Amino acid sequence: MSNCAIVGINWGDEGKGRMVDLLTERFDYVIRYQGGGNAGHTVVNEYGKFALHLLPSGIFRKGVMNILGNGVALDLENLYSEMQTVIGQGVSLTPDNLRISDRASLLLPWHRLLDGLEEARLADKKYGSTKQGIAPFYSDKFQKKTILAGELFYPERLKEHLQDLLTWKNLTLTGVYGAEAVRYEDLLAWVEDYAEKFKPFICDTGKMLKNAVKEGKSILFEAQLGSLRDLDYGIYPYTTSSNAIAAYAPVGSGLPSAKVDQVVGVVKAYSTCVGEGPFVCEWFGEEADKLREAGNEYGAKTGRPRRVGPIDIVATRYGVECQGATDIALTKMDVLSYMEQIPVCSHYELNGEITDDFPFPTALNDCKPVIEYLPGWQCDISGVRRWEDLPENARKYVEYVEKQIGCRIRYVSVGPERDAYIERF
Ligand code: GDP
Repeated sequence: MSNCAIVGINWGDEGKGRMVDLLTERFDYVIRYQGGGNAGHTVVNEYGKFALHLLPSGIFRKGVMNILGNGVALDLENLYSEMQTVIGQGVSLTPDNLRISDRASLLLPWHRLLDGLEEARLADKKYGSTKQGIAPFYSDKFQKKTILAGELFYPERLKEHLQDLLTWKNLTLTGVYGAEAVRYEDLLAWVEDYAEKFKPFICDTGKMLKNAVKEGKSILFEAQLGSLRDLDYGIYPYTTSSNAIAAYAPVGSGLPSAKVDQVVGVVKAYSTCVGEGPFVCEWFGEEADKLREAGNEYGAKTGRPRRVGPIDIVATRYGVECQGATDIALTKMDVLSYMEQIPVCSHYELNGEITDDFPFPTALNDCKPVIEYLPGWQCDISGVRRWEDLPENARKYVEYVEKQIGCRIRYVSVGPERDAYIERF
Protein backbone atom coordinates (compact mmCIF):
# COMPACT_ATOMS: atom_id res chain seq x y z
CA MET A 1 0.00 0.00 0.00
CA SER A 2 1.18 3.53 -0.64
CA ASN A 3 2.15 6.12 1.96
CA CYS A 4 0.92 9.67 2.14
CA ALA A 5 1.90 12.88 3.91
CA ILE A 6 -0.67 15.53 4.73
CA VAL A 7 1.06 18.86 5.02
CA GLY A 8 0.34 22.58 5.19
CA ILE A 9 1.24 24.66 2.15
CA ASN A 10 1.07 28.09 3.77
CA TRP A 11 1.39 29.51 7.31
CA GLY A 12 -0.45 26.68 9.07
CA ASP A 13 -4.13 26.44 10.11
CA GLU A 14 -5.09 25.37 6.60
CA GLY A 15 -7.32 22.56 7.89
CA LYS A 16 -4.82 19.67 7.99
CA GLY A 17 -6.51 18.04 11.00
CA ARG A 18 -9.78 17.96 9.11
CA MET A 19 -8.12 16.32 6.09
CA VAL A 20 -6.23 13.76 8.20
CA ASP A 21 -9.42 12.84 10.03
CA LEU A 22 -11.11 12.35 6.66
CA LEU A 23 -8.36 10.40 4.91
CA THR A 24 -7.33 8.14 7.82
CA GLU A 25 -10.11 5.85 6.69
CA ARG A 26 -7.70 4.67 4.00
CA PHE A 27 -4.62 4.13 6.25
CA ASP A 28 -3.38 1.79 8.97
CA TYR A 29 -0.91 4.11 10.75
CA VAL A 30 -1.02 7.87 11.40
CA ILE A 31 2.20 9.50 12.57
CA ARG A 32 2.93 13.00 13.84
CA TYR A 33 6.54 13.56 12.80
CA GLN A 34 7.48 17.06 13.95
CA GLY A 35 6.40 19.98 16.10
CA GLY A 36 4.78 19.94 19.48
CA GLY A 37 1.73 20.79 21.49
CA ASN A 38 1.56 24.24 19.92
CA ALA A 39 -0.49 22.81 17.05
CA GLY A 40 -4.23 23.22 16.94
CA HIS A 41 -5.66 20.67 14.54
CA THR A 42 -9.43 21.04 14.59
CA VAL A 43 -11.47 17.92 13.93
CA VAL A 44 -15.25 17.71 13.86
CA ASN A 45 -16.74 14.20 13.76
CA GLU A 46 -19.27 11.90 15.42
CA TYR A 47 -17.54 12.30 18.82
CA GLY A 48 -17.81 16.11 18.77
CA LYS A 49 -15.40 18.94 18.11
CA PHE A 50 -11.74 18.65 19.08
CA ALA A 51 -8.67 20.88 18.94
CA LEU A 52 -5.84 18.35 18.86
CA HIS A 53 -2.46 19.67 19.89
CA LEU A 54 -0.08 16.73 19.95
CA LEU A 55 -2.26 13.67 19.39
CA PRO A 56 -2.32 12.46 15.79
CA SER A 57 -5.66 13.18 14.12
CA GLY A 58 -6.16 9.47 13.38
CA ILE A 59 -7.22 8.63 16.97
CA PHE A 60 -10.91 8.67 16.09
CA ARG A 61 -10.69 5.77 13.64
CA LYS A 62 -11.00 2.20 14.85
CA GLY A 63 -8.13 -0.05 13.81
CA VAL A 64 -5.73 2.86 13.15
CA MET A 65 -2.45 2.92 15.09
CA ASN A 66 -1.35 6.45 15.97
CA ILE A 67 2.29 7.25 16.63
CA LEU A 68 4.19 10.21 18.01
CA GLY A 69 7.48 9.95 16.16
CA ASN A 70 11.00 10.80 17.25
CA GLY A 71 10.76 14.22 15.55
CA VAL A 72 8.06 15.66 17.84
CA ALA A 73 8.55 17.79 20.94
CA LEU A 74 7.13 15.33 23.45
CA ASP A 75 5.33 17.49 25.98
CA LEU A 76 4.01 14.81 28.35
CA GLU A 77 2.31 17.31 30.64
CA ASN A 78 0.14 18.78 27.89
CA LEU A 79 -0.28 15.43 26.19
CA TYR A 80 -1.66 13.94 29.40
CA SER A 81 -4.30 16.65 29.81
CA GLU A 82 -5.15 16.49 26.11
CA MET A 83 -5.65 12.72 26.43
CA GLN A 84 -7.94 13.18 29.45
CA THR A 85 -10.09 15.64 27.49
CA VAL A 86 -10.35 13.35 24.48
CA ILE A 87 -11.05 10.25 26.61
CA GLY A 88 -13.71 12.29 28.46
CA GLN A 89 -15.46 12.79 25.09
CA GLY A 90 -15.74 9.06 24.55
CA VAL A 91 -12.62 8.28 22.50
CA SER A 92 -10.54 5.28 23.54
CA LEU A 93 -6.81 5.95 23.93
CA THR A 94 -4.75 2.93 24.91
CA PRO A 95 -1.49 1.35 23.74
CA ASP A 96 -3.69 -0.44 21.22
CA ASN A 97 -4.15 2.77 19.25
CA LEU A 98 -1.45 5.14 20.51
CA ARG A 99 2.31 4.66 20.75
CA ILE A 100 5.19 6.99 21.46
CA SER A 101 8.64 6.58 19.98
CA ASP A 102 11.33 5.72 22.53
CA ARG A 103 13.55 8.11 20.58
CA ALA A 104 11.28 11.14 21.04
CA SER A 105 12.85 13.80 23.28
CA LEU A 106 10.98 15.07 26.33
CA LEU A 107 9.95 18.70 26.50
CA LEU A 108 10.83 19.49 30.12
CA PRO A 109 9.21 22.13 32.39
CA TRP A 110 12.16 24.48 31.92
CA HIS A 111 11.55 24.71 28.18
CA ARG A 112 8.20 26.42 28.72
CA LEU A 113 9.80 28.57 31.41
CA LEU A 114 12.62 29.67 29.10
CA ASP A 115 10.22 30.43 26.25
CA GLY A 116 8.30 32.85 28.47
CA LEU A 117 11.48 34.45 29.82
CA GLU A 118 12.90 34.98 26.33
CA GLU A 119 9.68 36.45 24.89
CA ALA A 120 9.55 38.83 27.88
CA ARG A 121 13.18 39.84 27.26
CA LEU A 122 12.43 40.47 23.57
CA ALA A 123 9.43 42.66 24.47
CA ASP A 124 8.30 44.47 21.28
CA LYS A 125 10.78 42.50 19.17
CA LYS A 126 9.15 39.17 20.01
CA TYR A 127 8.50 36.49 17.38
CA GLY A 128 5.03 35.62 18.57
CA SER A 129 5.89 32.36 20.30
CA THR A 130 3.00 30.34 21.69
CA LYS A 131 5.24 29.95 24.79
CA GLN A 132 4.92 26.19 24.72
CA GLY A 133 8.69 25.77 24.97
CA ILE A 134 9.16 24.63 21.38
CA ALA A 135 12.18 26.78 20.42
CA PRO A 136 14.15 26.09 23.65
CA PHE A 137 13.26 22.41 23.28
CA TYR A 138 14.59 22.03 19.73
CA SER A 139 17.71 24.06 20.59
CA ASP A 140 18.44 21.65 23.40
CA LYS A 141 17.76 18.64 21.21
CA PHE A 142 20.36 19.82 18.71
CA GLN A 143 22.78 20.37 21.58
CA LYS A 144 22.07 16.78 22.67
CA LYS A 145 20.77 18.07 26.00
CA THR A 146 17.40 16.35 26.24
CA ILE A 147 16.05 13.13 27.70
CA LEU A 148 14.75 10.49 25.30
CA ALA A 149 11.44 8.85 26.19
CA GLY A 150 13.18 5.45 26.19
CA GLU A 151 15.44 6.58 29.05
CA LEU A 152 12.43 6.35 31.36
CA PHE A 153 13.04 2.59 31.34
CA TYR A 154 16.52 3.07 32.85
CA PRO A 155 15.76 4.94 36.13
CA GLU A 156 19.24 4.87 37.66
CA ARG A 157 21.02 6.21 34.57
CA LEU A 158 18.16 8.65 34.06
CA LYS A 159 18.76 10.22 37.48
CA GLU A 160 22.38 10.94 36.64
CA HIS A 161 21.44 12.35 33.24
CA LEU A 162 18.79 14.60 34.79
CA GLN A 163 21.25 15.88 37.36
CA ASP A 164 23.77 16.76 34.63
CA LEU A 165 21.17 18.58 32.56
CA LEU A 166 19.85 20.43 35.58
CA THR A 167 23.28 21.76 36.54
CA TRP A 168 23.74 23.01 32.98
CA LYS A 169 20.26 24.48 32.57
CA ASN A 170 20.33 26.31 35.89
CA LEU A 171 23.35 28.26 34.64
CA THR A 172 21.11 29.78 31.96
CA LEU A 173 18.05 30.22 34.15
CA THR A 174 19.84 31.98 36.97
CA GLY A 175 22.82 33.51 35.15
CA VAL A 176 21.23 34.76 31.92
CA TYR A 177 17.64 35.44 32.99
CA GLY A 178 18.04 35.95 36.75
CA ALA A 179 15.27 33.43 37.31
CA GLU A 180 15.01 30.88 40.09
CA ALA A 181 16.93 27.64 39.77
CA VAL A 182 14.93 24.46 39.17
CA ARG A 183 15.25 22.02 42.10
CA TYR A 184 16.36 18.47 41.40
CA GLU A 185 13.63 16.98 43.64
CA ASP A 186 10.92 18.82 41.69
CA LEU A 187 12.34 17.78 38.35
CA LEU A 188 12.67 14.13 39.39
CA ALA A 189 9.16 14.05 40.83
CA TRP A 190 7.79 15.48 37.55
CA VAL A 191 9.68 12.94 35.45
CA GLU A 192 8.73 9.98 37.65
CA ASP A 193 5.07 10.97 37.65
CA TYR A 194 4.89 11.13 33.85
CA ALA A 195 7.05 8.04 33.43
CA GLU A 196 4.44 6.02 35.30
CA LYS A 197 1.64 7.43 33.19
CA PHE A 198 3.33 6.99 29.82
CA LYS A 199 5.58 3.92 30.00
CA PRO A 200 2.88 1.62 28.56
CA PHE A 201 2.76 3.78 25.44
CA ILE A 202 6.50 4.08 24.80
CA CYS A 203 8.22 1.54 22.56
CA ASP A 204 10.55 1.07 19.61
CA THR A 205 8.11 2.46 17.06
CA GLY A 206 10.76 2.22 14.33
CA LYS A 207 10.64 -1.56 14.63
CA MET A 208 6.89 -1.46 14.64
CA LEU A 209 6.86 0.54 11.41
CA LYS A 210 9.40 -1.72 9.71
CA ASN A 211 7.11 -4.66 10.42
CA ALA A 212 4.13 -2.68 9.22
CA VAL A 213 5.85 -2.04 5.90
CA LYS A 214 6.69 -5.76 5.57
CA GLU A 215 3.01 -6.55 6.10
CA GLY A 216 2.02 -4.10 3.37
CA LYS A 217 0.35 -1.61 5.73
CA SER A 218 -0.14 1.99 4.69
CA ILE A 219 1.13 5.02 6.58
CA LEU A 220 -0.15 8.56 6.82
CA PHE A 221 2.31 11.22 7.96
CA GLU A 222 0.70 14.22 9.64
CA ALA A 223 2.52 17.55 9.66
CA GLN A 224 2.11 20.56 11.86
CA LEU A 225 2.13 24.14 10.50
CA GLY A 226 3.03 24.78 6.85
CA SER A 227 5.82 25.33 4.32
CA LEU A 228 6.20 29.01 5.19
CA ARG A 229 6.88 28.15 8.83
CA ASP A 230 9.44 25.45 8.00
CA LEU A 231 12.71 26.12 9.81
CA ASP A 232 14.85 25.87 6.65
CA TYR A 233 12.47 26.98 3.90
CA GLY A 234 10.06 29.32 5.65
CA ILE A 235 10.04 33.03 6.52
CA TYR A 236 12.97 32.74 8.93
CA PRO A 237 13.21 33.80 11.73
CA TYR A 238 9.38 33.85 11.91
CA THR A 239 9.34 30.09 11.43
CA THR A 240 8.83 27.26 13.80
CA SER A 241 11.85 25.36 15.10
CA SER A 242 11.29 22.13 13.17
CA ASN A 243 10.85 21.01 9.56
CA ALA A 244 7.22 21.06 8.54
CA ILE A 245 7.90 19.79 5.03
CA ALA A 246 7.03 16.33 3.76
CA ALA A 247 10.68 15.51 3.05
CA TYR A 248 11.23 15.37 6.81
CA ALA A 249 8.41 12.87 7.38
CA PRO A 250 10.57 9.73 7.05
CA VAL A 251 13.21 11.16 9.42
CA GLY A 252 10.82 12.40 12.11
CA SER A 253 8.51 9.42 11.96
CA GLY A 254 11.04 6.71 12.82
CA LEU A 255 11.10 5.14 9.38
CA PRO A 256 13.96 6.92 7.59
CA SER A 257 13.71 4.55 4.62
CA ALA A 258 10.04 5.35 4.04
CA LYS A 259 8.88 6.36 0.59
CA VAL A 260 6.27 9.07 0.58
CA ASP A 261 4.19 8.25 -2.49
CA GLN A 262 1.60 10.96 -2.19
CA VAL A 263 1.82 14.42 -0.64
CA VAL A 264 -1.52 16.09 -0.02
CA GLY A 265 -0.89 19.80 0.45
CA VAL A 266 -3.62 21.65 2.30
CA VAL A 267 -4.33 25.18 1.08
CA LYS A 268 -6.95 27.51 2.48
CA ALA A 269 -9.13 29.31 -0.09
CA TYR A 270 -7.82 32.58 1.39
CA SER A 271 -4.78 33.40 3.55
CA THR A 272 -4.38 33.44 7.30
CA CYS A 273 -1.33 33.83 9.48
CA VAL A 274 -0.97 33.68 13.25
CA GLY A 275 1.73 35.67 14.99
CA GLU A 276 4.45 37.94 13.72
CA GLY A 277 6.40 38.11 10.46
CA PRO A 278 5.89 39.50 6.94
CA PHE A 279 2.48 38.72 5.43
CA VAL A 280 2.39 40.39 2.04
CA CYS A 281 -1.32 40.05 1.24
CA GLU A 282 -2.56 41.12 4.68
CA TRP A 283 -5.89 42.95 4.92
CA PHE A 284 -6.76 45.43 7.64
CA GLY A 285 -9.90 47.15 8.83
CA GLU A 286 -13.43 46.29 7.93
CA GLU A 287 -12.82 43.86 5.08
CA ALA A 288 -10.35 41.93 7.26
CA ASP A 289 -12.85 41.79 10.12
CA LYS A 290 -15.52 40.50 7.77
CA LEU A 291 -13.33 37.69 6.44
CA ARG A 292 -12.05 36.82 9.94
CA GLU A 293 -15.61 36.54 11.21
CA ALA A 294 -16.81 34.56 8.18
CA GLY A 295 -13.97 32.07 8.59
CA ASN A 296 -13.94 32.16 12.41
CA GLU A 297 -10.22 32.84 12.23
CA TYR A 298 -9.08 32.67 15.84
CA GLY A 299 -6.19 30.42 16.93
CA ALA A 300 -7.26 26.95 18.14
CA LYS A 301 -4.55 26.92 20.81
CA THR A 302 -4.29 30.57 21.80
CA GLY A 303 -7.58 32.17 20.73
CA ARG A 304 -5.51 34.91 19.04
CA PRO A 305 -7.23 36.62 16.08
CA ARG A 306 -5.52 35.41 12.91
CA ARG A 307 -4.25 37.89 10.35
CA VAL A 308 -6.21 37.43 7.12
CA GLY A 309 -6.05 38.29 3.43
CA PRO A 310 -6.81 36.94 -0.05
CA ILE A 311 -5.14 33.78 -1.30
CA ASP A 312 -1.45 34.42 -2.01
CA ILE A 313 -0.60 32.65 -5.26
CA VAL A 314 3.14 33.47 -5.07
CA ALA A 315 3.53 32.04 -1.55
CA THR A 316 1.25 29.09 -2.31
CA ARG A 317 3.15 28.11 -5.44
CA TYR A 318 6.39 28.24 -3.44
CA GLY A 319 4.78 26.18 -0.66
CA VAL A 320 3.66 23.55 -3.17
CA GLU A 321 7.22 23.27 -4.50
CA CYS A 322 8.74 22.96 -1.01
CA GLN A 323 6.34 20.19 -0.14
CA GLY A 324 6.62 18.35 -3.44
CA ALA A 325 2.83 18.21 -3.29
CA THR A 326 1.16 15.69 -5.60
CA ASP A 327 -2.42 16.73 -4.73
CA ILE A 328 -4.05 19.74 -3.13
CA ALA A 329 -6.95 19.96 -0.71
CA LEU A 330 -8.47 23.43 -0.99
CA THR A 331 -10.34 24.13 2.27
CA LYS A 332 -12.87 26.67 3.48
CA MET A 333 -14.26 27.46 0.03
CA ASP A 334 -17.65 28.02 1.69
CA VAL A 335 -16.23 30.98 3.62
CA LEU A 336 -15.77 32.98 0.40
CA SER A 337 -19.46 32.65 -0.53
CA TYR A 338 -20.35 36.09 0.87
CA MET A 339 -18.01 37.94 -1.50
CA GLU A 340 -19.24 39.65 -4.65
CA GLN A 341 -15.83 39.28 -6.20
CA ILE A 342 -13.02 37.05 -4.95
CA PRO A 343 -9.66 38.77 -4.53
CA VAL A 344 -6.43 36.92 -5.31
CA CYS A 345 -2.87 38.07 -4.80
CA SER A 346 -1.57 36.97 -8.20
CA HIS A 347 1.96 38.44 -8.13
CA TYR A 348 4.26 40.49 -5.91
CA GLU A 349 5.70 43.87 -6.77
CA LEU A 350 9.26 44.21 -5.53
CA ASN A 351 11.35 47.33 -6.17
CA GLY A 352 8.99 48.41 -8.94
CA GLU A 353 9.11 45.02 -10.73
CA ILE A 354 6.43 42.36 -10.91
CA THR A 355 7.64 38.99 -9.72
CA ASP A 356 6.26 35.48 -9.33
CA ASP A 357 9.22 34.26 -7.29
CA PHE A 358 8.90 33.98 -3.54
CA PRO A 359 11.82 36.11 -2.38
CA PHE A 360 14.43 35.80 0.36
CA PRO A 361 12.61 36.37 3.69
CA THR A 362 14.08 39.83 4.37
CA ALA A 363 12.86 41.11 0.97
CA LEU A 364 9.28 40.11 1.83
CA ASN A 365 9.04 43.30 3.86
CA ASP A 366 9.38 45.32 0.64
CA CYS A 367 6.91 43.27 -1.42
CA LYS A 368 3.49 44.63 -2.32
CA PRO A 369 0.61 42.40 -3.39
CA VAL A 370 -0.80 42.63 -6.91
CA ILE A 371 -4.51 41.98 -6.49
CA GLU A 372 -6.87 40.68 -9.16
CA TYR A 373 -10.54 39.78 -8.84
CA LEU A 374 -12.55 36.77 -9.93
CA PRO A 375 -16.35 36.76 -9.93
CA GLY A 376 -17.97 35.41 -6.75
CA TRP A 377 -20.85 32.93 -6.54
CA GLN A 378 -22.79 34.41 -3.61
CA CYS A 379 -24.76 31.35 -2.59
CA ASP A 380 -24.38 28.69 0.09
CA ILE A 381 -22.15 25.87 -1.16
CA SER A 382 -21.73 24.02 2.16
CA GLY A 383 -24.19 21.30 1.13
CA VAL A 384 -22.53 20.60 -2.25
CA ARG A 385 -20.86 17.18 -2.56
CA ARG A 386 -20.30 16.84 -6.31
CA TRP A 387 -18.03 18.93 -8.49
CA GLU A 388 -20.67 19.46 -11.14
CA ASP A 389 -23.05 20.86 -8.51
CA LEU A 390 -20.72 23.71 -7.54
CA PRO A 391 -21.70 27.07 -9.06
CA GLU A 392 -19.74 27.81 -12.21
CA ASN A 393 -17.83 30.72 -10.63
CA ALA A 394 -16.75 28.52 -7.71
CA ARG A 395 -15.43 25.93 -10.19
CA LYS A 396 -13.65 28.68 -12.08
CA TYR A 397 -11.99 29.86 -8.88
CA VAL A 398 -10.73 26.34 -8.12
CA GLU A 399 -9.48 25.92 -11.69
CA TYR A 400 -7.75 29.30 -11.60
CA VAL A 401 -5.89 28.47 -8.36
CA GLU A 402 -5.01 25.01 -9.68
CA LYS A 403 -3.50 26.46 -12.85
CA GLN A 404 -1.57 29.16 -11.02
CA ILE A 405 -0.02 26.90 -8.39
CA GLY A 406 0.73 24.06 -10.79
CA CYS A 407 -0.78 21.23 -8.76
CA ARG A 408 -4.00 19.31 -9.06
CA ILE A 409 -6.74 20.27 -6.61
CA ARG A 410 -8.22 16.93 -5.73
CA TYR A 411 -10.32 17.84 -2.71
CA VAL A 412 -12.47 20.91 -2.19
CA SER A 413 -13.67 21.33 1.38
CA VAL A 414 -16.91 23.24 1.92
CA GLY A 415 -17.40 22.84 5.67
CA PRO A 416 -15.63 21.65 8.85
CA GLU A 417 -17.61 18.40 9.11
CA ARG A 418 -16.01 15.16 7.99
CA ASP A 419 -18.27 14.65 4.96
CA ALA A 420 -18.37 18.29 3.82
CA TYR A 421 -16.06 17.91 0.84
CA ILE A 422 -15.94 17.25 -2.88
CA GLU A 423 -13.45 14.81 -4.35
CA ARG A 424 -12.47 15.39 -7.97
CA PHE A 425 -11.40 12.20 -9.66
P1 GDP B 1 -4.93 22.84 11.02
O1 GDP B 1 -4.08 23.31 12.16
O2 GDP B 1 -4.27 22.95 9.70
O3 GDP B 1 -5.56 21.51 11.26
O4 GDP B 1 -6.14 23.88 10.92
P2 GDP B 1 -7.02 24.50 12.11
O5 GDP B 1 -7.74 23.43 12.77
O6 GDP B 1 -6.23 25.42 12.96
O7 GDP B 1 -7.98 25.46 11.29
C1 GDP B 1 -8.89 25.03 10.43
C2 GDP B 1 -10.28 25.49 10.90
O8 GDP B 1 -11.15 25.51 9.83
C3 GDP B 1 -10.91 24.56 11.91
O9 GDP B 1 -11.73 25.29 12.78
C4 GDP B 1 -11.76 23.63 11.05
O10 GDP B 1 -12.87 23.05 11.73
C5 GDP B 1 -12.21 24.59 10.01
N1 GDP B 1 -12.42 24.03 8.68
C6 GDP B 1 -11.66 23.11 8.01
N2 GDP B 1 -12.12 22.95 6.76
C7 GDP B 1 -13.18 23.79 6.63
C8 GDP B 1 -14.05 24.11 5.57
O11 GDP B 1 -13.95 23.62 4.45
N3 GDP B 1 -15.03 25.07 5.81
C9 GDP B 1 -15.17 25.67 7.02
N4 GDP B 1 -16.14 26.59 7.16
N5 GDP B 1 -14.36 25.39 8.04
C10 GDP B 1 -13.38 24.47 7.85
